[in-house]
Amino acid sequence: MDEKVNPKRADDKSPGKLVKPSRAEAEAAIRTLIRWAGDDPDREGLRATPARVARAYEEWFAGYNDDPSEYLKRTFEETGGYDEIVVLRDIRFESHCEHHMAPIIGKVHIGYLPRNRVVGISKLARLVDGFARRLQIQEKMTAEIASCLDAVLKPHGVAVVAEATHQCMTTRGVHKPGVTMVTSRMLGVFRDRAETRQEFLAAIGMRGGISVTDGSS
Ligand SMILES: [Zn+2]
Repeated sequence: MDEKVNPKRADDKSPGKLVKPSRAEAEAAIRTLIRWAGDDPDREGLRATPARVARAYEEWFAGYNDDPSEYLKRTFEETGGYDEIVVLRDIRFESHCEHHMAPIIGKVHIGYLPRNRVVGISKLARLVDGFARRLQIQEKMTAEIASCLDAVLKPHGVAVVAEATHQCMTTRGVHKPGVTMVTSRMLGVFRDRAETRQEFLAAIGMRGGISVTDGSS
């Protein structure tokens, strides 16, 4: 088994930083959960499962290795005089709720009014992934995406709306399939000017459909 510890994290002794366990420790934990569920981790069909789950975790939680703000800082472009809002809608994301580690699956819509910097579509998608691929609550993820864009691009305003289903609600607990949670963060002109906010909401097909959270923090 791969006993390598992520050197970046293992060497990081700054207070509050956790040392990442080894792959073998992670796989042992998954064996324990299989036994907790009531099955035998040594039976044929489950023997490779701990290794598969560990690899899946590397993908689902890859956001911990990402610093979206560093990435955006290197990739912006000049606007070339463009001064209307930019809207990117239906950016699919997959995240996991920090209360149950169950999938949260949905879409993020991003709008901003550039001051002098714009970023490409793939960069915005990567920004969303960087925050989604962590243990999250949807409200925090929405705010993190907005704050990061605001801090790096310094636009006149940022609007972020996320719509998602939470499998901890649909497959357990209250068992409410079909329920979608909508969260939003409006900063700058999107918070202060109703018509700019409406222009964004209309562009994502949500005119007047959500209440706007206060962007001040
Ligand atoms: Zn949950």
